[in-house]
Amino acid sequence: MLGCVSSIYLIVVTQMHNLNRSSHNVDHGIIHTKKGLSQKKKDFIDNENLKDDHVDYDNKASNGTLNTLSPKWTEAQTIERGIAYDLYGPTRPIIRNHWAELQRNNGNIAIICPFCGLTDAVEMDHFIPRGKERLFPEYSTHYSNLIPLCHNCNHTKGDDWLENGQQIFFNAYFDRLDGIEILQCEISRDPSTGIASSAILLNITGHENDICRRVVNTITRLNLLSKYSRDSNKILRSKTIELKTEYELQNSRYADQDDYVVAKRDVISRMSSNTDDCIAKLTYSAIANSDVYWDFIKSQL
Ligand SMILES: [Zn+2]
Repeated sequence: MLGCVSSIYLIVVTQMHNLNRSSHNVDHGIIHTKKGLSQKKKDFIDNENLKDDHVDYDNKASNGTLNTLSPKWTEAQTIERGIAYDLYGPTRPIIRNHWAELQRNNGNIAIICPFCGLTDAVEMDHFIPRGKERLFPEYSTHYSNLIPLCHNCNHTKGDDWLENGQQIFFNAYFDRLDGIEILQCEISRDPSTGIASSAILLNITGHENDICRRVVNTITRLNLLSKYSRDSNKILRSKTIELKTEYELQNSRYADQDDYVVAKRDVISRMSSNTDDCIAKLTYSAIANSDVYWDFIKSQL
């Protein structure tokens, strides 16, 4: 029946994922931040006791209270803010080493962006922003505050981090995702053309904790559902072409369309369990289970 929407509530963990953070401690970070700096800047790091700030950061991040951090310096202390802001530079040895260390700790391959899960991380995000307004320059080179992201996610995140006193974004180092399952794939047919398409949607029922809220906010703010839906539709379209072509080649093997459909639903269901790509997994499951999709396929054969 055209216009009928099949909602497939197959829920899997998001493309978002955790990263293992640097195994180096705060002392290591301070020593390496100082490398290549003038004596004046080295003294600044010691005199301002940035080490204690970094220890405090890690304690708060570990118990989920990063939102209680306040800027170290007042707005009037522009000199201090400026010096600390400039401790970071993408080509500084400490940052290059941080990248290499994260790569070692995350499988020795390119680091996939932990926000979108779609492309390689190429930039270092300051999770708590050092920002144009120099909000928190005291964490400019703190390992725990430097999280690799892809350009799009980093650019869209910008300097935002708190809303109503709560952290907005998912933290790939500290927010454990185990068991969080909030995406679903819905397949429907266009009422006028009859063409099937898929959409990736949020299903947050039963996930009202802080980490889920941050995951949902991140997905929403970065407009990830439309990107996931685009990927899902690509899979659905290519599967449709493949099934149609295959049936045309092999239709003598099947007594009728229904036999073919039964055989293929089973194959696609298995494809779902054999992939690590969350959107592919979700889409294959939805395809295998959606009567709406197979009615569409039969209309195409
Ligand atoms: Zn990304």
